Amino acid sequence: MILRCRLCHAAIAAFSPADLSLPMTGAMFGPLEPGFPPPFDPEASFDAARCPFCRHHPQGYDPAGRATLETGTGPWPVGGTVRRVAKAHSKKEGK
Ligand SMILES: [Zn+2]
Repeated sequence: MILRCRLCHAAIAAFSPADLSLPMTGAMFGPLEPGFPPPFDPEASFDAARCPFCRHHPQGYDPAGRATLETGTGPWPVGGTVRRVAKAHSKKEGK
C-alpha cells in the first residue's frame, strides 16, 4: 500500500499491512519504487519519521491520528495493536 502524508497528501512510502506492528519503525516502510533509498531511517522509531516534502510527521500531530495511516485508499488502521498496548499498560498500573 502507499503511505500518504496526512498534511500535504504526497505519496511518500510503500508498506505491507502485514509488516505493521507497534511500535512502528522506519524499517516497515520502503521506497515507492525499488532501487530508491528507504524514505525513513530504518533504525529509527516511526515517531522520528518526517515527510520528505513538508518535513512534518506523516500522521500529523493529532494523537487520535496515530491509530491510522493515510494511504492511497483512505485511512488504514494500524491493527488492534493500539488497544492492546493500552490494555497492557493499564494492567501494569493495576499491580
Ligand atoms: Zn507532507
